[in-house]
Amino acid sequence: MRILVIEDEKKIADFIKRGLKEEGYAVDAAYDGQEGFFLAKTNEYDLILLDLMLPKMDGLTLCKKLKSEGKLAPVIMITAKDTVADKVTGLDSGADDYLTKPFAFEELLARIRAILRKKDAAVANKLQVEGLSLDLMTHKVTRAGKEIELTAKEYSLLEFLMRNAGSVVTRTMISEHVWDLDFDTFTNVIDVYINYLRKKIDEPYEKKLIKTVRGRGYIIKG
Ligand code: CA
Repeated sequence: MRILVIEDEKKIADFIKRGLKEEGYAVDAAYDGQEGFFLAKTNEYDLILLDLMLPKMDGLTLCKKLKSEGKLAPVIMITAKDTVADKVTGLDSGADDYLTKPFAFEELLARIRAILRKKDAAVANKLQVEGLSLDLMTHKVTRAGKEIELTAKEYSLLEFLMRNAGSVVTRTMISEHVWDLDFDTFTNVIDVYINYLRKKIDEPYEKKLIKTVRGRGYIIKG
């Protein structure tokens, strides 16, 4: 899951970015409204955290512009304003949720999880491919009832594959949703991570779930 943080207070933006990365999200940060709008327009984000008071373009304008351009990534507005009128204006401009500064990081995480769950209503708390199961709440992964330890990045990659179970995901799709702007497209880092996953998810078992689709990408299916 790839998240864009648009926040001009660099300390807050970097704090959120670091925290979310530790949770396994791919995160980009923009420090003014214009840069934020550009990134949101040109990349495929699964969620946008948007500050209201921003230089160059304010959060409300940015949110309205994005929605009118057909960019439908869910938006959580983050702001110091907390009057009812401000919340209503924020939600009316197309935001999906609203968080008032200061907030506990745990609350931000819970709201992100709730929005990502809503985004894909068919997905319950668990993703399942045959005996392989991934719990979106606890990040616990098991196969045939046995727990598998994954790093944050391996988990994100597996989550993306499993959200698209039965469909081919290309390296471009993976790089857009699992990695952030620092991703270097000329490396084979995705293949390396697929191999890490295979060692843990497939190697000990007779049936292999992660398959290579030559020339296209990868697919996970039973
Ligand atoms: Ca601000």
